[in-house]
Amino acid sequence: MCGIVGYLGPRKAAEVLLQGLKMLEYRGYDSSGIGYIYRNQIKVYKKKGKIVNLEGVLPEPQQAHCGLAHTRWATHGKVTDANAHPHLSQSGRVAIVHNGIIDNYSVLKIELQGLGFAFKSETDSEVIAHLIEHAMNQNQGPEEAVRWALGRLVGTYGIIVLFSEHPELLIGAKNGSPLVVGQGEEEIFLASDPAAFIGMTRQAAFLEDREMVIIRKGEWITKTLQNEVVSRAAEALSWTAEASSMGDFPHYFVKEIFEQPEALRRAFGHGGRLMPDFGTAKLGGLNLESRDLLDVKKIVFIAMGSALYASQVGAYLLENFARIPASAEDASEFRYRNPIVEKDTLYFAVSQSGETADTIQAVQEIQQRGGRILGNVNAVGSTIARLCTGGVYIHAGPEISVTSSKAFLAQMGIMTLLTLLIGRMRILSLARGREFLNNLLELPEKLEVALTQAPQIHNLARKYLPYKNFLYMGRGVQYAIALEGALKLKEISYIHAEGFSSGGLKHGPLALVGPETPCFFLLAEGETFEKVLSNIQEVKARDGKVITVTNSEDPRVAELSDDVIRVPRTEELLAPFLTLLPLQLFAYYTAVELGVDVDRPRNLAKSVTTE
Ligand code: GLU
Repeated sequence: MCGIVGYLGPRKAAEVLLQGLKMLEYRGYDSSGIGYIYRNQIKVYKKKGKIVNLEGVLPEPQQAHCGLAHTRWATHGKVTDANAHPHLSQSGRVAIVHNGIIDNYSVLKIELQGLGFAFKSETDSEVIAHLIEHAMNQNQGPEEAVRWALGRLVGTYGIIVLFSEHPELLIGAKNGSPLVVGQGEEEIFLASDPAAFIGMTRQAAFLEDREMVIIRKGEWITKTLQNEVVSRAAEALSWTAEASSMGDFPHYFVKEIFEQPEALRRAFGHGGRLMPDFGTAKLGGLNLESRDLLDVKKIVFIAMGSALYASQVGAYLLENFARIPASAEDASEFRYRNPIVEKDTLYFAVSQSGETADTIQAVQEIQQRGGRILGNVNAVGSTIARLCTGGVYIHAGPEISVTSSKAFLAQMGIMTLLTLLIGRMRILSLARGREFLNNLLELPEKLEVALTQAPQIHNLARKYLPYKNFLYMGRGVQYAIALEGALKLKEISYIHAEGFSSGGLKHGPLALVGPETPCFFLLAEGETFEKVLSNIQEVKARDGKVITVTNSEDPRVAELSDDVIRVPRTEELLAPFLTLLPLQLFAYYTAVELGVDVDRPRNLAKSVTTE
């Protein structure tokens, strides 16, 4: 998990690379480094810690126009300056940056040491630099040398290679880690994610696995590892530079929380994915005929983290409303239980980045067993998007904060569309379909109303700052929101928080309740309202502190709760969109008050690209 960037063009490489690194820092950030060619030598600067540490050791930008850079999330070797990338080959002729894991590195290392190569780091990645140099020492050209070295590697990689003797050449390659070319006027970028260059060009081409890109002044060409040319053209990305910048907000997380109404509008295709006359939705990207969809007997979502909780909401909606059996599965567990993959089950891989390693593995497992899997993904052109035969982009725009907000909401948004589509085919009347659709269309505005309470929630976060443990409880469709709320608090404030079904309270968690443990209750009008209210009574009877997030005006709520956060009303199944917001804001303001690095919480990275 890391970010890599390469640049060849008229600008000062160090400046472009540094800017790119800052945009990629969210992917992994225990150390960073930059390398470029200056006076026929590769200069390398690297430092553990945040990118500002690297800035501290970089000299004034030099007239260097070709270089590479890396933010590291260590997999092999401690977090040290020496283990940070780029890594130089023995003689310094070659420098590489690498995202991924080389599984057979120990064998290669012994072999290279036998040939006299001395290693300066403990990483798996360093073998790549020495292998390339070894091939060049045998008189192979740079391209052939990289190709030969890649043939020796087992594992995953996105790499960029720089050569001191070829100051206008960059070579990239990928297998299992993302790599995208950005084409500007007379300049070429290479990166793990277009966010690295989106401020400079929006023309991008995504590489496929086992492809190389050879970049020379102003031009690039892609080839397979077998040296066959692949024709690939850059296409305009819909993302803008503003979408990737913080604007007037102090953190990406809060900016993205506030972008949620717009993210939901985009997920609904600004209404274009909804068909009011027919009270249904259209999702062309599924690449399925109505007949195929009617034959589906079950829907299974595969996901990790927040995407898993969004999937739980989706599964609930599908089963409850569209009356089709549906479930959400932890991708990392899925393939280890020798799963039964049925032909009439429709699987969905849900992942913001489309690069989640566990989810990718599950996709491959399902495909190998003859199953059909579609994507619910944000990042266009990502691995999952390409592996699946179809799917729906959530179009949330770039999500930079490690902790998800708008992608979670947009994932749920797509699931409501799927529910409407399948529900209308199976059992829902036109009138009920229209009603649901209208309620969907009203959601973005209601989110805007819910966001106006940010100052009150900030006060609440201050009030509860001394507490070290929190419980989050919900029932029915709100259960998954309780899990997501607890995850937000854990992720960015490092405060212990657990989500439970409020029905499960008496089966154990009640033992944790007392004056020292505040409990969030998600209490939406509907079937489970009275039951959850009783659960609140049970907590109050044990001197627990209760913060209730509700859309009800029932006076008993205020009587029983220490604090109440009111959100706009909507139908029961859609209430999660609104109860979610205060929980996100509470986690945010708590982290701010505690002085935690909100957008880059410790130990976490945005896309979990290793299992
Ligand atoms: N495996 C390499 C390392 O530990 C690269 C990790 C990464 O993708 O950041 O340095």
